[in-house]
Amino acid sequence: MAYMIIILFLIGIILFMGYRLHIKDIHYKYKADKMTHLEHSYENRIHDLEDTVNSLNQTAFTHTVTKIGNIDYFINQCTSLFGRYPNSVFIMIGFSISSLGKINQFFGPSEGDKVMVYTADILKNCVKGNAVYAHVNSNLFGILLRDSSEEEMLGMIDSINAKLKDYSSAFAVSAIFGIHYIDLSHTGDSLMDIMNYTLLAQKAVTDPKTMNYAYFTEELSRSYNENKKMSIEMEEALNNHNFIVYLQPMIDLHSYQIVSAEALVRWDYPGKGILSPYAFLPLFENTSLIQKLDYYMWEECCKILRRWIDNKMAPIPIAMNISPIHLQGSAFIDKLEQLMHSYLISKDLLILELPERGVANATKEVAEIIMKLKEKNFSLCIDNFGSVHSPLNLLKDYPIGQIKLDRNFLTKNSSSNEGLTILRYLVAMAKELDLTIITEGVESLQQANFLADIGCDIAQGYFFAKPLDVRHFDQLNKSMLRNLYRPSEYYPTFEDFAKDVDILTQMMQRVG
Ligand code: C2E
Ligand code: MG
Repeated sequence: MAYMIIILFLIGIILFMGYRLHIKDIHYKYKADKMTHLEHSYENRIHDLEDTVNSLNQTAFTHTVTKIGNIDYFINQCTSLFGRYPNSVFIMIGFSISSLGKINQFFGPSEGDKVMVYTADILKNCVKGNAVYAHVNSNLFGILLRDSSEEEMLGMIDSINAKLKDYSSAFAVSAIFGIHYIDLSHTGDSLMDIMNYTLLAQKAVTDPKTMNYAYFTEELSRSYNENKKMSIEMEEALNNHNFIVYLQPMIDLHSYQIVSAEALVRWDYPGKGILSPYAFLPLFENTSLIQKLDYYMWEECCKILRRWIDNKMAPIPIAMNISPIHLQGSAFIDKLEQLMHSYLISKDLLILELPERGVANATKEVAEIIMKLKEKNFSLCIDNFGSVHSPLNLLKDYPIGQIKLDRNFLTKNSSSNEGLTILRYLVAMAKELDLTIITEGVESLQQANFLADIGCDIAQGYFFAKPLDVRHFDQLNKSMLRNLYRPSEYYPTFEDFAKDVDILTQMMQRVG
């Protein structure tokens, strides 16, 4: 009996152990299954991640419109080729579609995009062999050729030209090419410099109908380096306050008092003296430097106004030039408001001069910005009116309170009877539309009197005063002009004002 119990007990233990082993087995199997499952799911996730990274890379290196390589792709590929083939001859070509602006304007931006996609397809077919190509930015394609003969390169340009012509029978599509033979031993050149060389070469194309390509020459290289030096110096000049605000008075033609002043930039350039904006603005306008300079000028104007207010000097409104580049977005409005807030300047003390070239044929975006400025109660003036387009429709379409007639418009029209008639009617029309009309470039008493007679409100020009630094402007404003300008009593000539500083002495003598 005892044996039986022991045997049963042992059987029980064996069965129990078997059961435990079975359970463990199931457990391990379950764990192994789970591991396999997890492994698969990790593998899948890794694949997914790889796909995502690949597609992100693809997106990062692809132009959104044309789906060919973009600027990052181009930089990557070119840098790698330069590294791999240091002894090769490389030619960089940059080209732009010359009529893209007009195509966008007349047929809409989607047609412009189609032209770009078509051009990208041409590149896929025409650029062969040891070459890289990309859609570098909005209207710039880049091609890098390695060890290609000049003949091959010009042949490729010819075939691109021929295919572009086939795009449409309704309008012409053409391109302008800039060519640069890269000197890899010139280690100071970045890829952006090299791209810029092709842009400068494009600008050297004078008659695209006969020859639509140009090479980057020694002469272009010299001027590029000079400009580059100036751009670097500009940052320093901003910090050192080497840019100076000059103010040119605007005179009410009925009361002959200064009613406002235009702020005009000057660069006090070490070793060269005071530079006119024409010496540096065109360079700045091709880069973002113009934004920095304008911001600086606007702040300087706010400081001048604050000083006038603090010194109880009856502030007059200052008109500030707004470079067209600002009108591409609304960031500058925030900047203006921020400045006005910091210096506690009210909006009636600032006039924004929007250049005609920036607002003529205004795109939807520019129109919206003009409306926004008006909603925020800024005083707006169209500057250089009549210089290029005479956009009469602007006057009815946009809430602009003032127009400033371009200096050349006055010069051109004040020498003939027909011209004077045009001026008379333009002023009459502006009056009908309730606009204040300012005429720029008034150089003689005769012009001033004529403008007053036909109802022009305000004049600006050397007849009254050249742009003056703020100290001289303050003296002029405070001590004399308010009482002095009487056309019948005061007859300065243009030559009298040969030197800005002389003006005060001249006038003192007359008053004395
Ligand atoms: P603008 O806005 O049309 O300014 C008027 C220009 O005409 C000024 O040239 C002024 O000195 C000149 N002027 C005025 N009256 C007469 C006159 O009776 N006879 C002659 N011959 N010229 C006269 P300036 O100061 O050389 O400025 C040239 C242009 O540079 C300006 O033309 C404006 O477009 C631009 N500019 C000047 N300062 C700035 C600035 O701070 N920011 C921006 N974005 N542009 C500026
Ligand atoms: Mg102006």
